[in-house]
Amino acid sequence: MVAGIEGRSQLGPCAFATALHRDHEKDRLGKVTDAGRVLVITGAGVSAESGIPTFRGEDGYWRNLDPAKLATPEAFARDPKLVWEWYRERRQCIRNAQPNAAHAAIAKLAQRAGDLLLVTQNVDDLHARAGLPKEKMVQIHGDIFLSRCSRCDWRAELCDAEERGTRNNSGLAGARPSTGPNEHEIQQTDLPYCARCHALMRPGVVWFGEQLPWDEVRRVEDYLGRGACDLVIVAGTTATFGYIIDWALRASTDGGQLIEVNPDETPVSTFATQRIHEPAAIALPRLIDQICNP
Ligand SMILES: [Zn+2]
Repeated sequence: MVAGIEGRSQLGPCAFATALHRDHEKDRLGKVTDAGRVLVITGAGVSAESGIPTFRGEDGYWRNLDPAKLATPEAFARDPKLVWEWYRERRQCIRNAQPNAAHAAIAKLAQRAGDLLLVTQNVDDLHARAGLPKEKMVQIHGDIFLSRCSRCDWRAELCDAEERGTRNNSGLAGARPSTGPNEHEIQQTDLPYCARCHALMRPGVVWFGEQLPWDEVRRVEDYLGRGACDLVIVAGTTATFGYIIDWALRASTDGGQLIEVNPDETPVSTFATQRIHEPAAIALPRLIDQICNP
C-alpha cells in the first residue's frame, strides 16, 4: 500500500448548512447509540482551522518551494538540511497552535462511543492535545515529532536531547519522550544522526511514494476486522488516497452511516449517506452534540 503524503490541504471556501440539512442530520443520528462502533477519519482540513498551513495553494509554499516536492525521499537525499529546516519550522508552528473545536468534539465522541478509532492523516499532535487517547488514534502518515533513522529502525521523539546529542556528536543518544507541546526545540543547523548506526535521522512521517507504516495499517485492519461500524465520519480530507476511501466504505458497508464533513465534494461524497459542506470546526461540534444527546 503506497502512501501519498503526510499532509493535505482541505479548507476551501466556507460552505453552509440549511435548517433542512440539520433536521436530516438529527433524524439519522438518533440511531447511533453510545455503544456504537465509530470510525473517524480526519485530514488537513481539521488542522487548517488551528492555523497549520496546508500543502495546497499559496499558503502551502515555504521559501517559494512546493511542499509536495520537499516531502519526498528524493528531496531529503538531495538536500537533507533544507528538508530538516522545513520540518523544524513546521514543528514550531504546530507547538504554537492550539486544538480547535473539531479536535475537541472528536475527543468528546471518543469518550461516549463504545469503540472508536480515529485514523488521521495529520502528522501534528492536535488530536492528542485535545484529549484523544493514543490507543484510539492511528496517525497513518506518521508523527512529525518523531524522528527515525534513515537506515536502521532507531527512532526517537525530539527534545532538547537532540541538541545535546548533536553538539556532543553522539546522535540522538539519550533522547527521551517529548515533555509537551510547549517544549522549546532549539534551532540547530547541524543534522541529526542515528545514535546506533550514525546514518542521517529523518522526520518520522510518510513521504510521497513511501509505504504506509505497517503497524499502523495493521491497527486499522484489526479494528475493521472486529466488525462493521454504526457510524463513519470523514472530515477535512479530500480523500485523495484509495486506502482512505476503502476504509471508509468497508467500515460502513453493513448499513452504517457514512457522514462526510468537507466544504467541497470529494470521492467519498458519492457514497456518503450524509454530506455536510462546512469546515470541520463548525460542523463537528454540532454533529457530535447530536450524537451524544440524541
Ligand atoms: Zn540507524
